[in-house]
Amino acid sequence: MKIGFIGLGNMGGPMAANLAKAGHEVTGFDMADVSIEGVSMATSGAHAATGADVVITMLPNGAILRAVAKEVLPAMSAGAALVDCSTVDVDSARAVAAEAAEASLLFVDAPVSGGIGGAAGGTLTFMAGGTEDAFAKALPLFDIMGQKAVHCGAAGAGQAAKICNNMILGVTMIGTCEAFALADKLGLDRQKMFDVVSTSSGYSWTMNAYCPAPGVGPSSPADNDYKPGFAAELMLKDLRLSQQAAESADADTPMGELAQALYARFVEEEDGLGMDFSAMLPRFEKRSRD
Ligand code: NAD
Repeated sequence: MKIGFIGLGNMGGPMAANLAKAGHEVTGFDMADVSIEGVSMATSGAHAATGADVVITMLPNGAILRAVAKEVLPAMSAGAALVDCSTVDVDSARAVAAEAAEASLLFVDAPVSGGIGGAAGGTLTFMAGGTEDAFAKALPLFDIMGQKAVHCGAAGAGQAAKICNNMILGVTMIGTCEAFALADKLGLDRQKMFDVVSTSSGYSWTMNAYCPAPGVGPSSPADNDYKPGFAAELMLKDLRLSQQAAESADADTPMGELAQALYARFVEEEDGLGMDFSAMLPRFEKRSRD
């Protein structure tokens, strides 16, 4: 396939490289001066999109996606697909889907889970929204860049799944960290806490697979001075998107709202910037009730 790839950062770069390695003809564009193995570079987004069967975007946010879409959709040929893998707000995904449909183009919102390691290793999970035709066109590429792709529903459903998942993740991480900090103050050994909770009804992915306590459970960013992993500021971005969506859909999400407020304080006032999102545990350790 002829593929245009726009946004070749930490995630997009290795994803584009994997597509090229698999034999696709990939033309890339990024505002920054980057070079990716096997990818020929274009001078603009429109240039990268011209003549492409599929254009993939991997961009920082919804405003940038909307701006890039305005530029690239007119350059695309009828029947081609725009596949946005960025994490953006549901409204932006739906707006771009509508513009694509008007131009007789296919659109898939397909945010990913799996982080930089998953992008490099081709083991991402894609959660996709769009028509059957659009999903079918993108699926062979998801199979190269990832290990699983779930078609979640119509346009926007991929972003909806992503932010609901990450809202659960943020809330659960905070719950796990505050429970460890409480256990410390009650004199409970952390390993014993893990042994009990990881096999009891309080278990979760954050406890069992990504334990925030150093030296406890499988290896995780806590064992590496809380270097990300999944940075606290990216968790904050996703929690903000979840609350923006909750506003727009009039959904009551008090735990998500509180998780957003805690991660905002952590990132903006408490040195959490650049730390893994599990560094909430040392944050709680230092605190008392007031
Ligand atoms: P990044 O900042 O490393 O990459 C974004 C790239 O987009 C940059 O290279 C930037 O120069 C480029 N860019 C910005 N505006 C542009 C424009 N108008 N035209 C062309 N290029 C432009 O970010 P990333 O970590 O690769 O994340 C990309 C997306 O993936 C984000 O939406 C993020 O939320 C999501 N995501 C990231 C991770 C992660 O672990 N990093 C995990 C899952 C999802």
